[in-house]
Amino acid sequence: MTGKAYIVGGGLAGLSAATVLAGRGVSVEVIEAAGQAGGRCRSYFDPAMGCVIDNGNHLVLSSNQGVNTYLARIGARDALAGPRKAEFPFADLRDGTRWTLRPNEGPIPYWFALGKRRVPGSHAGDYLQYAPLMWAGPQVRLDAVVHERGQLWQRLMRPFLLAALNTAPEESSAKLAGAILRETLAKGGRHYRPRIAHPTLAAAFVEPALKYLEEHKGSLRLSTRLRGMTLGPREVMTLDIADATLPVGPGDAVVLAVPPWAASDLIPGLTVPDDFRAIVNAHFKMTPPPSFLAKNSAPAMLGVIGGTAEWIFGFDDRISVTVSGADAIVDQDREDLAMRIWADVAKALNIDAPMPAWQIVKEKRATFAATPAQDARRPHPKTRWRNLFLAGDWTQTGLPATIEGALRSGETAAALALRHLGL
Ligand SMILES: Cc1cc2nc3c(=O)[nH]c(=O)nc-3n(C[C@H](O)[C@H](O)[C@H](O)COP(=O)(O)OP(=O)(O)OC[C@H]3O[C@@H](n4cnc5c(N)ncnc54)[C@H](O)[C@@H]3O)c2cc1C
Repeated sequence: MTGKAYIVGGGLAGLSAATVLAGRGVSVEVIEAAGQAGGRCRSYFDPAMGCVIDNGNHLVLSSNQGVNTYLARIGARDALAGPRKAEFPFADLRDGTRWTLRPNEGPIPYWFALGKRRVPGSHAGDYLQYAPLMWAGPQVRLDAVVHERGQLWQRLMRPFLLAALNTAPEESSAKLAGAILRETLAKGGRHYRPRIAHPTLAAAFVEPALKYLEEHKGSLRLSTRLRGMTLGPREVMTLDIADATLPVGPGDAVVLAVPPWAASDLIPGLTVPDDFRAIVNAHFKMTPPPSFLAKNSAPAMLGVIGGTAEWIFGFDDRISVTVSGADAIVDQDREDLAMRIWADVAKALNIDAPMPAWQIVKEKRATFAATPAQDARRPHPKTRWRNLFLAGDWTQTGLPATIEGALRSGETAAALALRHLGL
């Protein structure tokens, strides 16, 4: 008889591994410490807002292969919304300039050469300066490779890379920045149309996965923290939870899909990223002005330059704002933050109204710092225990900490577990 698979951690990496394994007929049990699945990508009813909100806005791109495979598997292919073509509106609050970046669809980026399509004040040659990032080695910082600091840097590349890496791009790993460019700008606009979970993150990434698991006879234990494991010389032998010790046979598989700090507590001596960056999200209970709502009822999105707010998202019932790499503001008073961010929103969207009901969500350890030193600490999904595999956006995925990386890591761990289970 085929062994069983335990998935510890019900974030997206864990759900990705669990659904692959359940889909292959493996008996799967997910063990999640929190009262709900989703981890850093979750939705919940917020009393201050009086509606369901996401912990933070999450942007993915049309050609994210891991995202598309996962959504197809769990039957949620239609759960993302966005414009038919790649287009990114921006507002520069410093001088009031507004523009929409409209990359062409194909791989030859001729939009760099068209004044109306590129960043105002940038020159075609500026764009070429980023190409060497795509071949950068592992120990190199971005600021050793790219020296462009003009309008292209200020109005596109810095905000774009900050959002993708959640780390000041100057100190970030050139290799991780290059991985992003290879999957976006180098492929052509049709590959990086923005995609947003609609109406919530849970509706797209979590609830359909839980339904899929249920349909495939998987089980989920919520509010159940893995406290320890018995590690034999070659295999995990037990999983210890609050009220039970679960025996793990040599023919079973365990996928540990918890955050890096939890993994290093559970596996002595495991090297993991240990430096993190914050993200602050502000949510405002207001229907966005009609001029901001997208025509196809997809959530709208605006890049903001020169303020505290960086990206504004407009949903039917709320406006939500992301500030990445937010360590400098994360400890500030919540109401002060809300007022400061609302001032940017009001200016960017031309709203003349008092601040509506609001919520500030602070995620202090939103992602590992995407620096060369931290990237070097990311472990391989295979461990020295034959039946124990690692998953998570912080394992060696070749990508920064993203949904795409988390989902791919789950697939990799599931493939290793399947091999161990003889499937
Ligand atoms: C505010 C915010 C905005 C973001 N924006 C974007 C974006 O725009 N685009 C993008 O691609 N990515 C974004 N990300 C990153 C993305 O959310 C993560 O990369 C992804 O969700 C990580 O998934 P994971 O499964 O690896 O980890 P996690 O989501 O951290 O999942 C780990 C799970 O393990 C559980 N756990 C911990 N310890 C134990 C234990 N001992 N026993 C059992 N369970 C345990 C946790 O409760 C958690 O559910 C953002 C992240 C944040 C926080």
